Amino acid sequence: MACKPTLPPLDRPTGWRPMDELVPVDESTPVDASYDWLIVGGGITGLSAAMRLGEVAPQDRALLVDARPVGWGASGRNSGFLLDLPHKFDLDHPDTARLDRIMKLNRGAIDRLHEQVDRFAIECDWSPVGKLQGAVKKRGTGMMARFCEALDKIGQTYEVLDRQGCTEIMGTGYYAGAVFTPGSVLVDPLLLVRGLARNLPGNVTLRDDAAVVEFAARDGGFTAKLRLSGGDTRVVSARRVILATDPYTREFGYMKNRILPTITYASITRPMTREERSRYKGRMNWGLTPADAGGTTLRMTADGRLLIRNHYGHAPRYRADGAVLARVAEAHKQGLDKRFPRLSDMPITSTWGGVVSLSRNHATYFGEMAPGVFSANCYNGVGMTRGASSGRLLVDLAVGHRSQALDDIIAVSGKPSTLPPDPFLSVGVSGRMKLVEWESRSEM
Ligand SMILES: Cc1cc2nc3c(=O)[nH]c(=O)nc-3n(C[C@H](O)[C@H](O)[C@H](O)COP(=O)(O)OP(=O)(O)OC[C@H]3O[C@@H](n4cnc5c(N)ncnc54)[C@H](O)[C@@H]3O)c2cc1C
Repeated sequence: MACKPTLPPLDRPTGWRPMDELVPVDESTPVDASYDWLIVGGGITGLSAAMRLGEVAPQDRALLVDARPVGWGASGRNSGFLLDLPHKFDLDHPDTARLDRIMKLNRGAIDRLHEQVDRFAIECDWSPVGKLQGAVKKRGTGMMARFCEALDKIGQTYEVLDRQGCTEIMGTGYYAGAVFTPGSVLVDPLLLVRGLARNLPGNVTLRDDAAVVEFAARDGGFTAKLRLSGGDTRVVSARRVILATDPYTREFGYMKNRILPTITYASITRPMTREERSRYKGRMNWGLTPADAGGTTLRMTADGRLLIRNHYGHAPRYRADGAVLARVAEAHKQGLDKRFPRLSDMPITSTWGGVVSLSRNHATYFGEMAPGVFSANCYNGVGMTRGASSGRLLVDLAVGHRSQALDDIIAVSGKPSTLPPDPFLSVGVSGRMKLVEWESRSEM
């Protein structure tokens, strides 16, 4: 039976670049009737899969489709941290061999992205400046101490900064302390994914104006009905499918009661003026993630823009409610003002929400969901490096290309546990998220 996926909404997209730059990278290459591979989703996962197909199966023909221009989805909406270390819930795992595997996967992803950024001269503010893990009050400093213990366990170097050290870097005395680790890279995520999309291998056709409106398994393969910009439709068939659709994977009939679509919000300012810069006493180009997962992510970009991200919500319809966006914008402004009172006249130019998939048991999925259908999802909010590894290694899994990296990703992945049905789910998730926000209020 064919499924008819609910499409990603035409909501307010990323504020990293002006909206008029968010047009399809390719809406004109003809679409044929059949391909060896169909990749759905032009985010970091789908683009990495497409890149890999050029390396290990250059004789195969692939079609990569996205309902929206590349960068419209989470991969162009995020805070732009390419994280090298295990993050959030992964860090709590007692097995150091597991943490080591995650670290190797993340660092492998950063190395490959770096190589692609260099090879294709992608201008995405690639900044190997590491990152800070910051704490505001006692709750955060406790978590910071546990982060240091985890780093000791896996033999990673770090530097602990006190309030003064934080102030020197960030120009704000808001943080009681932070742990600096050198391996993460900061980027403009929108420019990164659009740069990759413009440089796909010759055996991959991209159409980022093509929504999959029907999908079915048929005759040992798959058919997808595409709706193109302008309203025309095409039916394509493929032997293998990669669903690089993160939360939308459940719209294709898989993992329906295991994926929790979750929204988080970011805001960005315009670049500081020369005069504002003279009032700002910190350095340029740094990034801070919260020691408490429920806290606030903060960045000062190389060109002097401040980015702030926090708040989570359940997003069964994959979009931000207008009233919530307005409330979040206000909260983000207050968040910046209390950190940078001297810059309180610097306006936020955009606030947006972005949807990612979470799993109840924090397991990240990677594998063949049904014969011929490959997917990875539930990156639990930290999917830029994990998505890059996953896309590439899904292709390896499908073609039987064994490697240590493939063994590693299989070993650290799992099956998201089932979620309760609605209305218990919505009530339970909203209540849980509110509780987390309340508990983390001192770190916001
Ligand atoms: C505000 C925010 C900040 C974040 N910060 C970070 C960070 O700093 N570092 C980090 O590692 N992670 C971060 N994340 C998470 C990260 O962005 C995601 O984990 C990652 O981008 C997921 O990539 P993906 O390619 O799997 O999915 P996506 O980028 O979501 O791509 C899925 C694509 O599928 C397409 N699609 C869905 N249905 C259809 C259909 N029917 N037909 C055609 N196309 C379809 C969508 O349009 C979408 O483009 C953040 C997320 C948000 C929202």
